[in-house]
Amino acid sequence: MERVIDCPVCYDKDTCFEDMQDTFNSYMCFNCGFMSNSHYTEGNTDKVESSTKLIQDLKFFDEERKIYWFPSVVNMGKLGIIYPEGSVDNWGWNAMVYGQYEFLKACQAMGIVGNNLHKNPSSAEA
Ligand SMILES: [Zn+2]
Repeated sequence: MERVIDCPVCYDKDTCFEDMQDTFNSYMCFNCGFMSNSHYTEGNTDKVESSTKLIQDLKFFDEERKIYWFPSVVNMGKLGIIYPEGSVDNWGWNAMVYGQYEFLKACQAMGIVGNNLHKNPSSAEA
């Protein structure tokens, strides 16, 4: 069963959902992007899988439910992945979508390689 709750992180009243299962509840806010579930209690936050240091640093303690909320990492498979990036004081959502043969584009976006890799070496020297 799903119901709308007041988001403890951003106080949004319309887009934060509680999903009630038999054994646990999960939470997702589509305004601030934070998520949680009833397993994320104090001392249990190592259950947050494959999270970055930033995600750990941004965790928010929900006094009402006694659980931690974390920024979401949404892996949409082929469509890409949405994740928080930046520093604790200045971060934002990053959505990366690159096809199977667009590795170079992804590297360029990350600044790993320059934009002139497609030129052949002789013309680049000229
Ligand atoms: Zn929120």
